[in-house]
Amino acid sequence: MVKSKKEKFDNAWNNLKKTFYYAKKQKKEFIIYFIANILLAFLGAIVPLLSANQLLKLTDGLLADLLIVSTTILIVEISVNFCRFFARKYAQIFTREILKHIQIDIAGELLKVETSDLDKKSSGVFIDRLVRDTGRIADIFLNLNLSLTDLVTNIGILFAIFVTNKILFIYYVLGMLIIFYLERRRIKKYNVLDKHYRKSAEATTGLIGELVRGIRDIKVLNAGDSFMRRISQKITDINQERYEMSNVLRTYRLFTGSVHDILDFFYIVLAIFLISNNFIEISNVVIIYMYKGRVFNLLTIMSQVMEWFKDFNLSASRVYEIIDSENYKKEKFGTKHLKKIKGDFEFKDVYFGYSNKKNVLNGVSFKVKHNETVSFVGKSGAGKSTIFSLLARLYEPSSGSIYIDGINIKDLDCDSIRGNISIITQNPYIFNMTIRDNFTVVKENITDEEIVKACKMAKLHDYIMSLPEGYDTLVGEGGITLSGGQRQRLAIARALAQKTEIILFDEATSALDNETQEGIQQAIHSMKNKYTILIIAHRLSTVINSDRILMVDNGKIVGEGTHEELLKNNKHYKKLYNLELKK
Ligand code: ADP
Repeated sequence: MVKSKKEKFDNAWNNLKKTFYYAKKQKKEFIIYFIANILLAFLGAIVPLLSANQLLKLTDGLLADLLIVSTTILIVEISVNFCRFFARKYAQIFTREILKHIQIDIAGELLKVETSDLDKKSSGVFIDRLVRDTGRIADIFLNLNLSLTDLVTNIGILFAIFVTNKILFIYYVLGMLIIFYLERRRIKKYNVLDKHYRKSAEATTGLIGELVRGIRDIKVLNAGDSFMRRISQKITDINQERYEMSNVLRTYRLFTGSVHDILDFFYIVLAIFLISNNFIEISNVVIIYMYKGRVFNLLTIMSQVMEWFKDFNLSASRVYEIIDSENYKKEKFGTKHLKKIKGDFEFKDVYFGYSNKKNVLNGVSFKVKHNETVSFVGKSGAGKSTIFSLLARLYEPSSGSIYIDGINIKDLDCDSIRGNISIITQNPYIFNMTIRDNFTVVKENITDEEIVKACKMAKLHDYIMSLPEGYDTLVGEGGITLSGGQRQRLAIARALAQKTEIILFDEATSALDNETQEGIQQAIHSMKNKYTILIIAHRLSTVINSDRILMVDNGKIVGEGTHEELLKNNKHYKKLYNLELKK
């Protein structure tokens, strides 16, 4: 959809306002930076005047005066250096603080984005925006200020030329227009490429993320070659795009550089004509000549400001898109707070689909009493994990309701739900930290005794103690140094340490060795009757040990009872049981 001019303006204005919100917090630094810049602009503007004067004193042989002018230049130049030092220092503090605030906000907002919206995005979208785009936002105020102070002094200089000599003034204005025209064309070309480049960079970061995270599977699947082909294509493309961007820069620099040289030459020709016809004094020609760089760049600065602004606007739109709710919907919770729940819950006629096209749950209803252990069985894809995700409110039902302790979860706040429910997935995410920190990250004030107790219950303590560094062992990215069974037991221990009332456990389908299975079974068994435990069961032993079994088929509960009851009355269960027996 093509945006109208007004929409574009509103969007840019909103981006500025949002950035101003962050800049406001850094008022002091900005003011110091601003003052240092004004001084810089002023001192910078008088240097060519003094230099020209120096040249004239030299040619006139006024050596004492030359010394005075040179001393003045020295003082001015040293002051320029100091001003530049302070301007840079405070600019850097200013940028650091703005960056920090925006980046922390994005990271925080990311946690609030609805799971369904996260499912659709690649990690590159977030990483690139958090790392690259925020930098460009932070630069805008500095760039704008720098250019505006330059602009003001340069207009002053142009005015001085106008007063000194109208012909040279017209000559400068013409030169400015030529350079401005070239610069505009360059920016236009460059921006089109830049927009495309950022999209490609985002996709490449995402793919590199996949490579890093999936490297073991890629190796085992022997998919290295095909992955490399994709990744090399992306890397080749973005580097080509970057090259094309620098191509535009290089070519236009060649043009503008040559145009500057030609303008210089004709300035001299014009000056010769003016001097020989007594239209101007030599000293004025020299002074005006010394300012030429600044004057020619007057319009270039203006177009640069426009370029920076476009650049800023592009980045700001990408960043604020995450912070705002329109494109990335934020999770909404109720306000009721339950400090400790009993652990009863109920699904009442729940319908849900990940997309509008197809429902995954088709009217699920069941009740679970606190401290019950209930197993869910059914074919893969029947909707069992989805039931778990809905209970933890990772997704919202499209209709129907879920109650915890009789309260609709729509009315409960985040802590009441997620602080009281733990999910142990088939492939739990173990953070790349020490074993101890995997506990402290979910419960900050946990004691060592509590960690050890949880690990003992999860039948993991002995293994941890056999490691040279015990609880201080680093587990590697995704807990790679642990076996599948150990990762699940660590996740169980983490859930136990959280002391949530409801524990949802997705039993690993992968063939764990008997000892590991036994360990996990024992861990679950030790939690029985103390917690409300829901298990997605893949093994008979688990099913038989649970208080009740719910049979899920095609997003519906099609049977409910104990193992014996279901075996007698439920054809779906009987079929599944026979299949399992055959295995
Ligand atoms: P089960 O746990 O019984 O094996 P799931 O609840 O995981 O089944 O999946 C039910 C259906 O929902 C499957 O068809 C699956 O492909 C789909 N599904 C699961 N997770 C997602 C998701 N994040 N996005 C889209 N579809 C999903």
